[in-house]
Amino acid sequence: MSKKNKPNSNAMFTRAIDNMPLGVADSYRYWGEENTVFLSSMKGCTITDCDEQTFVDFRLAYGPIILGYRDERIDNEVISAITTVGTISGFSTGLDSDVVELVKSLCPNIDKMRFSNSGTEAVIGAVRTARGFTKRNKIVVVEGGFHGLHDEVMWKSDVDNWDVNTQQVPDIVPFGGGIPQSTREHQVSVPLNDFDAIDAVFTQYGDDIAAILIEPIMGNCGSIASTQAYMQKLRDVCDNNGSLLIMDEVKTGFRVAKGGAQALYGIFADLTTYAKAMGNGYPVAAFGGRAEVMDTISFAKDGVTHGGTYTANMVALSAAKATLTVLKETDALETIANVGQKIQALLSRVFTKFGVEHCFAGPDAMFGVHFGSKVPQNYRDWKQTNSDLYTQFALNLIENGVMLEPDSREPWFICEAHQTVDLNWLEQVAEQSMAAAINE
Ligand code: PLP
Repeated sequence: MSKKNKPNSNAMFTRAIDNMPLGVADSYRYWGEENTVFLSSMKGCTITDCDEQTFVDFRLAYGPIILGYRDERIDNEVISAITTVGTISGFSTGLDSDVVELVKSLCPNIDKMRFSNSGTEAVIGAVRTARGFTKRNKIVVVEGGFHGLHDEVMWKSDVDNWDVNTQQVPDIVPFGGGIPQSTREHQVSVPLNDFDAIDAVFTQYGDDIAAILIEPIMGNCGSIASTQAYMQKLRDVCDNNGSLLIMDEVKTGFRVAKGGAQALYGIFADLTTYAKAMGNGYPVAAFGGRAEVMDTISFAKDGVTHGGTYTANMVALSAAKATLTVLKETDALETIANVGQKIQALLSRVFTKFGVEHCFAGPDAMFGVHFGSKVPQNYRDWKQTNSDLYTQFALNLIENGVMLEPDSREPWFICEAHQTVDLNWLEQVAEQSMAAAINE
């Protein structure tokens, strides 16, 4: 991908670099001086850059867009709420309970909920509640998972320096500077789907493990899914040890099924975090779970503190109410799964034509594409896929008008509006992009 013939984007970058570090408002938007994308509009499943190139978008802002950009069913409700009621007041209007009741009607794992403004905040709330309830400190996390930008979960197993031959994984390391060593103390990291590792961790730290925090389907690691047996193992190990199971459904919630990943597994968490698809792109997030656990949030001496000035504002709540109502009352998720299946089928035809070993991971609404012979079971397996070929393929797709993250750890996100995509066109573009990737 190159912006050499993108004068407006280049001008935007030149301006932005004087205003923001890396020229972007969020570091993940930085794709290098040449390739950082600047948009002029979005609609349905497409985005248009400020040089008037339109892309069919499978990145979907890292997952929140579930219906489509600028969906009037949602936007009209938000406009109506803020023009007739207002935005924030520091008091409740009842719209909060409307949303919680909708969530409860979709997710049997939720008795009570609290809201927040981002997935990061929702995870902070869930982890603090788990610690407050169990009166323990340690959190077990999964290699390759991501839970937001707060210091405590910004530690990762250093799989990047993994030596496949010795199988020795170095200690967990921070995601960069500014993260105090003291926040490392309470993290323990395990590879997904590894029963022995989880047993070892509980043998060593069991008495102090407050919770396992897991993306049941790793939306930040190529949609690699926990097996049914592993998820059951986590449920059992938590029950037997007085620890809580927190499922981070920030990416999977209201996307992979109306009841999220938990509905697919039929195994339920004590606490769950939601964001993204909950509001079709409006900033809303929440965490919730069993009443007994959630009621740890209180003004008791050792009660858990939760709140925030912008929490449960009218924009967030009206968007969530409208989005969840559409998801509940229509077959949008079936449509999405159907389109996702067709796209995987066409990609598979293309890869097969070029003799590229491939597999898909995760559900149809957010599937991972991996170049390798078997579906990865964890981050270490992902490291052994041909992710460089994927990146080249993805960059060629982008060049040809198909937007996605050029990193196979980020899934292809499908929204309802993708049902309008010309799949013959997409197959042709995929074919051209793979032909060029192989020759590059
Ligand atoms: N948890 C998961 C599973 C996520 O994928 C993300 C973000 O991608 C977060 C938490 C953090 O959410 P946010 O970016 O809204 O803070």
